[in-house]
Amino acid sequence: MYFCIKKILENRFMSANELKDTPRHIGMRKKLVEEIAHKGIKDQRVLEAIMKVPRHYFMDSGFINFAYKDSAFPIEAGQTISQPYTVAFQTELLNVREGDKVLEIGTGSGYQTAILLELGATVYSIERQKVLYIKANELLKQLGYRPHLFYGDGTEGKQNYGPFDRILITAAASEIPEELKKQLVVDGILVVPVGDRFHQSMVCIVRKGENEYETSEHGYFVFVPLLKGTQ
Ligand code: SAH
Repeated sequence: MYFCIKKILENRFMSANELKDTPRHIGMRKKLVEEIAHKGIKDQRVLEAIMKVPRHYFMDSGFINFAYKDSAFPIEAGQTISQPYTVAFQTELLNVREGDKVLEIGTGSGYQTAILLELGATVYSIERQKVLYIKANELLKQLGYRPHLFYGDGTEGKQNYGPFDRILITAAASEIPEELKKQLVVDGILVVPVGDRFHQSMVCIVRKGENEYETSEHGYFVFVPLLKGTQ
């Protein structure tokens, strides 16, 4: 029984010695950063954060060779770790400043959370899949990050922890989430992919005043859906 539980836990969480960032990983990551920059990401702070965070830690160890390809990849619970270019694109749009209070909806693997933390943000992140919440919580802690992670449905945001300087949604919303707009500070920014199952427009909303918002659109992407309730 003891060994059985131990085995399950070993499978669920990478043991500390698996968290190795070798020169090979660093080399592959450097190439990935160059590729992302080539595709149009200009913010040096974002590129530096991508360079700093070992993406392979956030994927199962069997898939290490996929970690530095610029593509999304399946994680547990039928979800995905976002494509690195998409992570960089959303982060650039979000324009995170040191000390910003950021709400992220869709913790997933925790990779985007780590990027936001590397930019000096205080991060509140919500995940509706329990298995992902547990795994990200454990991993981020192991890596020395200190985010505020929550298990639950993020569609209503976290009003009692707000208002937020920045809000990032990493799953596809069918419409602009009005409740979340209200949780922004004035001059705060919300980035959210909005559309149907097959493609979403990257929407950036800046709160200009109590009831004034400026909306812009920034090309099409594909995310897993933002769903109600928990799993
Ligand atoms: N940023 C993550 C992306 C994960 S995919 C990463 O880089 O790994 C999007 C995540 O949003 C999924 O894990 C999904 O379970 C989660 N999600 C979907 N709807 C949600 C909701 N209403 N509240 C919180 N999380 C949600």
